[in-house]
Amino acid sequence: MQRARVVTMNAALGPLDYRVPEAMRVGPGSVVIAPLGPRQLLGVAWEAERLPTNEVSDARLRPLAGVLNVRPIALPLRRLCEWTADYYLAPLASVLRMVLPSSAALDGPRQLTEYRPTGSVPGRMTPQREKALAALEGRQGTIRELADHAEVSDAVVRGLVNSGAFEAVMVDADRPLPVPDHAPPDLNEDQQEGASSLVAAVGKGFDPVLLDGVTGSGKTEVYFEAIAECLRQGKQALVLLPEIALTEPFLKRFEARFGCAPVAWHSGLRSSDRRRNWRAIASGEAQVTVGARSALFLPYPNLGLIVIDEAHEPSFKQEEGVQYHARDTAVMRAKFEDIPVILSSATPAIESRHMVEVGRYREVSLPHRFAGASMPEMQAIDMTQDPPPRGRWLAPSLVSELEANLERGEQSLLFLNRRGFAPLTLCRHCGHRFQCPNCTAWMVEHRLMHRLACHHCGHVMPPPKACPECGEEDTLVPCGPGVERIADEIAELFPEARAAIVTSDTIWSPQRAAEFVGAMEAGEIDVVIGTQLVTKGYHFPNLTLVGVVDADLGLAGGDLRAAERSFQQIQQVAGRAGRGDKPGRVFVQTHDPDAPVIAALVSGDAPGFYSAETDARREAAMPPFGRLAAIVISAEDSSEAEAVARRIGHAAPEVEGMAVFGPAPAPLAMLRGRHRQRLLVHARRSLDVQDVIRDWLAAIEWSPKVRVSVDVDPYSFL
Ligand code: ADP
Ligand code: ZN
Repeated sequence: MQRARVVTMNAALGPLDYRVPEAMRVGPGSVVIAPLGPRQLLGVAWEAERLPTNEVSDARLRPLAGVLNVRPIALPLRRLCEWTADYYLAPLASVLRMVLPSSAALDGPRQLTEYRPTGSVPGRMTPQREKALAALEGRQGTIRELADHAEVSDAVVRGLVNSGAFEAVMVDADRPLPVPDHAPPDLNEDQQEGASSLVAAVGKGFDPVLLDGVTGSGKTEVYFEAIAECLRQGKQALVLLPEIALTEPFLKRFEARFGCAPVAWHSGLRSSDRRRNWRAIASGEAQVTVGARSALFLPYPNLGLIVIDEAHEPSFKQEEGVQYHARDTAVMRAKFEDIPVILSSATPAIESRHMVEVGRYREVSLPHRFAGASMPEMQAIDMTQDPPPRGRWLAPSLVSELEANLERGEQSLLFLNRRGFAPLTLCRHCGHRFQCPNCTAWMVEHRLMHRLACHHCGHVMPPPKACPECGEEDTLVPCGPGVERIADEIAELFPEARAAIVTSDTIWSPQRAAEFVGAMEAGEIDVVIGTQLVTKGYHFPNLTLVGVVDADLGLAGGDLRAAERSFQQIQQVAGRAGRGDKPGRVFVQTHDPDAPVIAALVSGDAPGFYSAETDARREAAMPPFGRLAAIVISAEDSSEAEAVARRIGHAAPEVEGMAVFGPAPAPLAMLRGRHRQRLLVHARRSLDVQDVIRDWLAAIEWSPKVRVSVDVDPYSFL
């Protein structure tokens, strides 16, 4: 009798054993349907010896209910799933859910039916039909998607189909294939050298490469050559981007180079695209996939190359569910798949540079901008010497630079990493500060939406007329600037200038990002005021002036990577300036021009900055020279959270080379209505800290109302 050990998608269950019915073909990696009580669970068959569990006798085994007609999850991906579960202390089921994120994709036909308006008006009109017709003009989708969009019932849409106002369209899963030699660029000498070295790596096994090139040096063009080689060898390539807003410009460039768009994967996909794209990826038909970090776990049967673009970006770290870092995990996938992986960045993470130093990664560098464009000139503005007038945030010298730039008809970018109008609102009369009821955080005023909003939990409220504390009316004052306030300042200073605010509030989808890029390229915007969203990736040749509104902002709070991150962010935003034939200028407003970060930026001494930072980390045995893990305990009831945190603290094992700090209230002491306590574990590099934590926590029990999560290699210290 054949048995199968199955990991179900239910994280609360361990592996379960089943009998494989005679006619069924099941091997490791097969996607199966497993009965459990009255339910049917989706699961993946696994090598039994790798997942020990209590053996069940043959007689008591239930038969599997079915096996799905998709390729089994291949061996390298199974090993990656195990590694991820192990390293990040997550249930294997949760990792598998990232491999099989669209259950519809597992059984869906390759052709699917969508509907679109025909232009004809139904004989019988109802208010619901009228509403649907208005909302769905020019739209195409499944009945469900159309009904959702128009906020009517499925029946209304079906009625419109039957009356002839909508018609069915068969959407085909087949897609055109990218052509490796469609439009290859003329590479300059540096680029040629870098490209050959990357091309040579394709097909030759595991090879992690840091592609380290200044902003505007043509890193994308260079790694495109490696993708072209991957296509020639008939293998799949995966490109990870840090931000879905960057997808659209990437798709355009890719299409220009390879003749058709790659397959996209991100959270903004329609469900029909999600299902179709997953199937194309899993069947091997999708030759190139571009996506957010979640694209990393998809079941490419034939992967030949992974590229991580803007590899230093902190958004590659997932902060919920399985708390993995997509950069590190991508390198592991490349290792299991035995393929090259390219980490592309103008400002590599200290961790990545360190890997080059110790010889684990290779480095390919592009030290110059393409086509003779020069690096922008950077200058600090000392805000103590050149302060703006009261209630303003831009120094007079920056204002005159902006004015000159506007007169020349060139574009400017002001960077401030704060959404909304003001980060804090208080009552002038009694000093009351508006705090989120669910979080340890201020409510941020968003004047455009006429709301106060919490950036942690999403709680919103209209700005009240009277102070809730003292009852005085019209006493609320905004404190400090957000991008909206800077936009107001620009409107007052330069009423003629066309300004655009670019944040996740205004650019929430690839479509909106594409509109922004279009408007910039058409010269319809003079001044962009944006958050970190505009610091990376974009290429606007007429953008020549960058102003960093508050360079000190990122240094406050002082977490492990604060200085590094500030340096990267400002370097990246500066990299948007002067990418065409006109030179760029960058002005950095600061209260402390002597701070090492600012000094290094202005003098252009990146190597000096990196080595000082690296030394400081080495001295303190901080990553990558030591290891950190955060244990966060949360509960709605603060005393329950504290009690469990104390018990965990008391049970901390004495291990040579490991120290435990806390428990103490986490810096974000309350989040979404839950009180949070934190312990920080610091260990030497060689210690298997996951093993220690696993045993330590396994010996303690807590009520289901308390949540304990472990963040291995944390990036957020909140
Ligand atoms: P990076 O990613 O290093 O900042 P990009 O790859 O975005 O740089 O390149 C900057 C700009 O220069 C892009 O518009 C790109 O198309 C152009 N470019 C770079 N190399 C070449 C080349 N060899 N031929 C034509 N255009 C190039
Ligand atoms: Zn909140």
